[in-house]
Amino acid sequence: MPTQHSATYDVAVVDLPEGRALVLSPTIPEDAPPAVREGIARRRITNTGGTCPCGARACLPNRATRRRAKRRGEMTRVHVEHAVDCPATDEALDAAMRGVR
Ligand SMILES: [Zn+2]
Repeated sequence: MPTQHSATYDVAVVDLPEGRALVLSPTIPEDAPPAVREGIARRRITNTGGTCPCGARACLPNRATRRRAKRRGEMTRVHVEHAVDCPATDEALDAAMRGVR
């Protein structure tokens, strides 16, 4: 049986070289432990073009990939390389979430 997720998302409009884009960012659960809240908060910063306190920034796919996705009406994903000790890494958030479940 697939894992059930009840995350909700906020939508932000950001400016890209080719135009505007909608960015989905998970909301921060009010009842989540501090480590989860901090990790999600940092991801929200980088999702909208900011810099994480660890120094990470979002890397957009190259222009050809972005244009192809736009033509096809597909979503694109950005890559963010957080520092190993950043609470926004997949590993840190997974560990923090395991404590929640
Ligand atoms: Zn980070």
